[in-house]
Amino acid sequence: MFEELLRQWDGEEVVVRHDRETGTWIFVCVHSTTLGPAMGGTRMKEYGAPAEALEDGLRLASGMTRKLAVAGLPCGGGKAVLAVPRVFEGDERRRLFERYGDLIDALGGTYVTGPDVNTGEHDMDTIGSRTPHVFCRSAPNGGSGDPSIHTALGTFHGIRAALRHVYGDDAVIGRRVLVQGTGSVGGKLARLLLDAGAVVLVSDVDEERARSTGAETVPPDEALELECDVYAPCALGATLNEETIPGLRCRVVAGAANNQLATPEDGERLRARGILYAPDFVINAGGAMHGIGLEQLGWDEVELERRVEGIGETLTRIFEWAEREGITTDEAAERLAAERLGRPATGNRP
Ligand code: NAD
Repeated sequence: MFEELLRQWDGEEVVVRHDRETGTWIFVCVHSTTLGPAMGGTRMKEYGAPAEALEDGLRLASGMTRKLAVAGLPCGGGKAVLAVPRVFEGDERRRLFERYGDLIDALGGTYVTGPDVNTGEHDMDTIGSRTPHVFCRSAPNGGSGDPSIHTALGTFHGIRAALRHVYGDDAVIGRRVLVQGTGSVGGKLARLLLDAGAVVLVSDVDEERARSTGAETVPPDEALELECDVYAPCALGATLNEETIPGLRCRVVAGAANNQLATPEDGERLRARGILYAPDFVINAGGAMHGIGLEQLGWDEVELERRVEGIGETLTRIFEWAEREGITTDEAAERLAAERLGRPATGNRP
């Protein structure tokens, strides 16, 4: 199973470690160092089998290469997955992250990590006690902290760009926006939208979390078929698929979740229904800009906010290019990434 997955992958290298003390499988996937060191977060999750974790890591690492290339950052793409038998806490967790930090250090900067699902700034602090190759440690430990506010801000600018493209006006005031998932990113996005005068509807499997945003709540099983201007997926991936797309009643899909399309054909399904899709790996790059920009590129807050706002401009170019070429927005974004990576681009410049 590992052999087949690795043979089919177009990335550079994968480091595999079995952590005996905890029974954790660790996969560090370096997809590309063409534009710089491979960057991408560390995901900790229970998987059915180690091969599933490897598959997830390989796919996420390629996604990081595309995301960072389109964001114009001088970095390659990578991702690490810790496939744990259960999510550890306390000393057990700290020791696991120390051993993992030693592994990252041994790679000598080829891969630089950061937070992802089930990992946060405290884990980055632990990793940072063993290696300098880590982003988003806590501020007292010299890091830039939680990046989710900039992911939310980039998504907000992306929503405005999509509204401008569809309605000729980027004002969110009075627009109905459904935010699905009100965790670190979705909760902050809901707040930004409310402050800008949007009619915000929120949905989360954790009802208390949804209510705490102050917006009107919608039961999770009714969310996708709600009539709205914008559907902003900020929870899980693959919510856009053959089953859900026919029932959508929105003009725009623009949210922060990774891997929103179940298959590339779903991009075409959205286009055929006249729904404008903001490619996930373009609109959700604000968090990466936060860690890399503040800690590696010497940006201050003003420069970071300027770059995050630029996500809206990048999306506008992608929307216009897709329309001109008669291709999906996802395909236009893929072509832009390929162009920045110096791979053969299959269309005109956006
Ligand atoms: P999070 O875990 O803080 O929040 C996710 C929320 O979604 C939780 O509140 C959870 O209860 C809810 N949820 C889960 N299943 C749901 C369902 N079926 N319906 C409604 N709600 C559901 O995660 P996050 O950091 O806010 O990230 C959200 C998404 O954005 C993820 O896909 C993540 O990969 C992506 N993303 C996050 C960042 C970041 O800076 N945190 C950056 C880029 C991309």
